[in-house]
Amino acid sequence: MTKKLLLALLMGASAIAYSQEKEPTNPEATEIYEPVPPRVTPGLNGAPPSDAIVLFDGKNFDHWISAVDSTEVKWHLNKDGSMTVKDKTGNIQTKQNFGSVQLHLEWKSPKEVQRSGQNRANSGVFLQKRYELQVLDNNDNPTYVNGQVGAMYKQGVPLAMASSPTGEWNSYDIIYHAPEFSRGGNIVKPATVTLLHNGVLIQDHFEIEGTIEYIGWPTYEVHGKAPLMLQDHNDNSRVSFRNIWVRELD
Ligand code: MG
Repeated sequence: MTKKLLLALLMGASAIAYSQEKEPTNPEATEIYEPVPPRVTPGLNGAPPSDAIVLFDGKNFDHWISAVDSTEVKWHLNKDGSMTVKDKTGNIQTKQNFGSVQLHLEWKSPKEVQRSGQNRANSGVFLQKRYELQVLDNNDNPTYVNGQVGAMYKQGVPLAMASSPTGEWNSYDIIYHAPEFSRGGNIVKPATVTLLHNGVLIQDHFEIEGTIEYIGWPTYEVHGKAPLMLQDHNDNSRVSFRNIWVRELD
């Protein structure tokens, strides 16, 4: 009896099955050739990769509607290819519903500083219209750390604060895996999020605890695919966004 088989016997049936596989005798025996991953042409200088859905390229709001009443977006469309929150017109959301995604977007706070704490250039990126990654001008502007820039709001404290100077563009690259629910409506697999802020890892596969609550604790509600949403914080935040694209992961 080989040492490996003896170990397998100790570890149980599945290990036995593994141990009985033929020992590789050449390098090819452990190489996989199919299926071949699809070819994706990468975007250069921030451009979207070839298989991305471009949600905003500065030309129009064709992929977006008001999250308040599903009418057309009332935010500002700027000549430089960006959009800016128009105060008190409400959040905007994608027309399309999404599950798990890779999402890229860029945002900036206004150069002229107004107010402090949560009321300085507050916006947010809501995944599946429920889970908010905070957007905030945090430069020389402390606030509660689970509500600072890059936080999963009131749940996930970011690993670092990686903001560009006030008034300059930031990038968010997000990997989001949607939650899974049982038929009975119980959470089987919580949602997770990874966030690179200006290329710096600040959320590392964070397990989301449920729908964002301003007051109270998060809990999960059963849902399927849902829109991506950008926040109008209703205090003249004047946050701008540009270059938004997404790759579906399911
Ligand atoms: Mg916010």
